[in-house]
Amino acid sequence: MVDELRGNPASPGTAAGPVVRLAPPPVLPEAWDVPAAPEEELAAASGALETAVADLEKRAASVTGESRSIMDTQIAMARDPSLRTGIRAAVHNGRPAAWAIHEAFGRHIAALESLGGYLGDRAADLTDIRDRAIAAALGLAPPGIPAVDGAFVLVGQDIAPADTVLLDPAKVVGIVTEKGGPTSHTAIVARALGIPAVVGCAGAAGLADGQTVAVDGTRGTVLADPGEDHLRRIAAESAALSEKLARHRGPGATADGHPVKLLLNVGGAGGAAAAAAADAEGVGLFRTEFLFLDRTEVPTVEEQRAAYGAVLRGFAGRPVVIRTLDAGADKFVPFANTGDEPNPALGVRGYRVGVRNPELLTAQLEAISLAAADHGADVRVMAPMIATPAEAAAFCELARSYGIGTAGVMVEVPAAAIRAADILAEADFVSIGTNDLSQYTYAADRLLGELGELLDPWQPALLALVANVAAAARDAGKSAGICGEAAGDPGLAPVFAGLGITSLSMSVSAVPAVRAALKDYTAGQCETLAREVLSAPDAPTARKIVEEFRTG
Ligand code: PEP
Ligand code: MG
Repeated sequence: MVDELRGNPASPGTAAGPVVRLAPPPVLPEAWDVPAAPEEELAAASGALETAVADLEKRAASVTGESRSIMDTQIAMARDPSLRTGIRAAVHNGRPAAWAIHEAFGRHIAALESLGGYLGDRAADLTDIRDRAIAAALGLAPPGIPAVDGAFVLVGQDIAPADTVLLDPAKVVGIVTEKGGPTSHTAIVARALGIPAVVGCAGAAGLADGQTVAVDGTRGTVLADPGEDHLRRIAAESAALSEKLARHRGPGATADGHPVKLLLNVGGAGGAAAAAAADAEGVGLFRTEFLFLDRTEVPTVEEQRAAYGAVLRGFAGRPVVIRTLDAGADKFVPFANTGDEPNPALGVRGYRVGVRNPELLTAQLEAISLAAADHGADVRVMAPMIATPAEAAAFCELARSYGIGTAGVMVEVPAAAIRAADILAEADFVSIGTNDLSQYTYAADRLLGELGELLDPWQPALLALVANVAAAARDAGKSAGICGEAAGDPGLAPVFAGLGITSLSMSVSAVPAVRAALKDYTAGQCETLAREVLSAPDAPTARKIVEEFRTG
């Protein structure tokens, strides 16, 4: 029987191949014998943890940029001396090696989980190390991506950071996970690597190793045991797409030349080198959190100046929009956030942190201004999580006082989208963060995969807010870009163009498909499409309107 599974579209494109399931975490038998030689068990447990950490270090050495910092954090957690103390205590309480590891990690994992937010998410990293160490203690293969020959579709509950950083697009042609939403770690990495992916697909639990599946990361579907015809169609589609993508280069524009700038999202010097080499018109979102996460002290102005400079260097002659620190909620920064808020996503985060810690914001603006001068760069700044025109005015005035000529704000709080005209009276430009704007418009935690349907950027209320912001910007004669994940969706590109959005900022791998999608329509067609999509009652209907317009 042909079976179509549904999940969240996470990384566009189609692919087919045999299922390779992530090796499951080891399961500890419920009963054990109290070891006769505790010292031997302690040595075995320590050795197993060392094996797991050494394996992580080997993997970390082969990657750079954001992936590297994710793994370095994981390694630092595994080196926490209190874990070893816990293992020792558990062994002396009669636990064999694997059980001692489980017990010692258990307390740390529970403590992190209870904190929620960014730190809560780190619990998954610690669980991954625990499982690797237990597998080593039991003499089992480590959990994660098994070593197999040939191309395959990777299927699992979710993919741990240690595995995502090693994904090889030449082998992993598609990804399907049972958990995760459109902004989950797996989704972001899949998009960055250009691997079609469907996440939050609960039905994937029933897929068997070796079974052929067809993944449609644009629609969010997974077809089990597709027929020959379907496989041929997928192969033809992806060949036609590659040919089409290779045909277009240069600045973003519709078929009749209406410009929509194609910009990049970067998050640190590692990925910036690859981004600088890409065919794009500049940086629409430089996330600066990489310098602050997992730090206990504020980086100095000089350190920040050098870090920003490392990115600016590659973009000489092209504009770079640097976002000031967006600490809080999913990006917990120890010295900026208290960690004791009941609802961190609704708490002191983004610009609100800068208001309460002015020295953080002013040091950053000073460093940005110095780095811009060092490199003669066209630098603009924007603040995250702006809610009111007064906040926009205060931020832009402060930025200009540091000699930064162009100052804007992100629109990711519904209040700012509704009163976009007032915000634009104060800011030089706005950039819409659809990830948070979805979260706050639909009251749906962006990290919860099971709420993926509400977080879908094709949802009509989100698009209505985008339309309102774009119209306000057009009336003000200013630019309104999009820098959330929705900007990398080729299906939405003509809709955004038709609404009057002036730039789309995305990961490097998304640019060719978005550029090609814009070329499929004239500006007039984009406007017609936008009008029709805005009147759609729900996200699937909106997608269908674009699909039918394109093929009809
Ligand atoms: C957004 O919210 O859409 C955005 C671009 O910011 P971040 O994902 O960094 O919160
Ligand atoms: Mg945001």
